[in-house]
Amino acid sequence: MKKDVATKKRRIRCAAPARRTVVIEEYLKAKHNYKEEIEKAVINSWKSFCRRARDRESLWDGIYRVIKRTNERKKDQNMLKKDGRVLTPEESAQYLAETLFPEDTKKGESREHSDIRSRAEKINNMEHNANYDPLFTHTELTEIVASFNPKKAPGEDGFTADICGHAISANPSIYLTLANKCLTLGYFPARWKKATVIILRKPDREAYDQPKAYRPIGLLPVLGKIMEKMIVKRLNWHLIPRMSERQYGFVPQKGTEDALYTQTKHIREAVVEPVILYAASAWSPSVSKLYIKKRLDSVQRGFAAKICKAHKTASLNSVRVLAGLLPLDLRVVEEATLFKIKKGHDTLEVLKDVEIELKTPYQNTPHPAKIPQISYRVLANEEVNNEDKIHVYTDGSKTSEGVGWLRAAVTFWRNDREILKHKLTLAGFCSVYQAELLALKKAVHLAVRRKEVGFNIFSDARSALDAITSSRSLSPLVTDIREVLGKHPEKEIKLFWVKAHAGREGNERADELAKEATKNHKNKPSYDRCPLSHLKRLIRAETLQKWATRYKNEQTGKITKMFFPDAIAAYKIIRNITFNSTLSQILTGHGGFSAYLYRFKLKESPTCICGYAEEDVPHILFDCPVHLYVRMKLENQIDVDKIGKCNIASELAKKDNRKTILQYCIEIGTLVNNRNK
Ligand SMILES: [Zn+2]
Repeated sequence: MKKDVATKKRRIRCAAPARRTVVIEEYLKAKHNYKEEIEKAVINSWKSFCRRARDRESLWDGIYRVIKRTNERKKDQNMLKKDGRVLTPEESAQYLAETLFPEDTKKGESREHSDIRSRAEKINNMEHNANYDPLFTHTELTEIVASFNPKKAPGEDGFTADICGHAISANPSIYLTLANKCLTLGYFPARWKKATVIILRKPDREAYDQPKAYRPIGLLPVLGKIMEKMIVKRLNWHLIPRMSERQYGFVPQKGTEDALYTQTKHIREAVVEPVILYAASAWSPSVSKLYIKKRLDSVQRGFAAKICKAHKTASLNSVRVLAGLLPLDLRVVEEATLFKIKKGHDTLEVLKDVEIELKTPYQNTPHPAKIPQISYRVLANEEVNNEDKIHVYTDGSKTSEGVGWLRAAVTFWRNDREILKHKLTLAGFCSVYQAELLALKKAVHLAVRRKEVGFNIFSDARSALDAITSSRSLSPLVTDIREVLGKHPEKEIKLFWVKAHAGREGNERADELAKEATKNHKNKPSYDRCPLSHLKRLIRAETLQKWATRYKNEQTGKITKMFFPDAIAAYKIIRNITFNSTLSQILTGHGGFSAYLYRFKLKESPTCICGYAEEDVPHILFDCPVHLYVRMKLENQIDVDKIGKCNIASELAKKDNRKTILQYCIEIGTLVNNRNK
């Protein structure tokens, strides 16, 4: 079509005058059609892109697909044996298979190997022990199925994870029966073990004639992988609590960072520190730190300048403040501190006697088959009509009264009358989320202790309910609630979400109780574990403080400091400013001003056109008589007698004036810039 349009356009030039109008018309029509087609194609491609995004394909998948396509397929290569013989394609495939997937033989086996083998064989011959390994539950299956990436490549059968997922959720019992039969028989279907193997070249190898230059990827049937994952989850539960403390891979809640932490600590204590102490005068730890800091700074400088659109020569100290970026080295320290505190290796001075709310350790999570299935119902306006049940209302809230404690309350109702109430307090640093969970926890604990059977628990905290119903949350409050609910299947405890302040009497009562100032203030709140969010805030505050000091003490960035003397205050203001290069020139002093141009040998004189002084940012903004009129207009607008070096920062800090002042800066900056072109 594109070609057609081009030919028709060319034809206009050569057409006889009589035919000209017809030819032009033809061209325009073709062009119009072409444009329409393009538009259609664009819309369709966008639609299909959006549809794909909805199917949980990440944005990157599309990009990877394009990259994959552009990377042309390389020709297969025959293998070379050690004796120099080049193999035929069939032999090559055989050789690859033998090397990458060696036969499991007893030949050349070590004592340890044969020991494991004989023990495994013994277990294989044993009967299934239902006490030790109960049947798989629906909950286990649903959770595993949901954890699969629907777009992962399928195995030989071609069933992708989303096909399997839909099939299983349509009737979970079929698959569950199958899986449980496998479990009791101790048999894993051979068909599910058959992998489609794809051989990929390891990148950047000189030659690809050896099997070691390839990496195989085995695609297994998803149905088998689901079964496998369920078994692995159980094995983990049995094995992990018995594993070495030093095992970091494959262990939930532990990662390479733990390993690195232990490692570096070990190296520092056993190797680095003695060396430094041995020749302390020559080896100061700050040398290496400064080096690292410089490297980090240079990394950050590039994108900081780009973010605020500043000149390349502007100092890092300036652009960092304008870009609103914390120094990278401080960020690294921040991460390390958070990590250390989370793992109990360190603490902040202010949190000395405070316990951090850590996740429930993996060892204490229930056996996969014992995970209770918990759900909640969303109530819009309808009522739940089971009057024989006890209605329980919970609420958590932050009040301005009192000594900054958070409050939570539970109230039990039977036949529209309150029969029990309980008030709770939380330490000031706790979150409302924690308060809501604490109220729910108390409600559940009180409910299981009562003789009644049916309870409807109402909460207006969606996030808390979501956490309770998923087995993924490892917040100790959540795991406690789940455990209690799981241990009391004889109780009929149902959870409901209700909108806050929807006029439900019990709800209003819980709200009122939670807000009520507790008169007999106990010395200790009912819950005082510090949430990670608070810890992060504290650490961030410390980082900001360090940054502010550094910003102030640094020699560079004088002009920026005139506008923003305090890095912390600037951090808050900057977020609401949109930068253009003129504004950045003014705020850094690096740009088309004579003083600057002279400094970098781009102009012969630093003097301003008024002839009174050097043309630098303070002069053009506050002193230069050339801009007197514009300046007076500004002073009028923001209602100050005289704008200058001493009050620009405080005026800029006022929200109402900010825009006017920045507008003035841009106006002057543009004027001067054009003048110096
Ligand atoms: Zn001047």
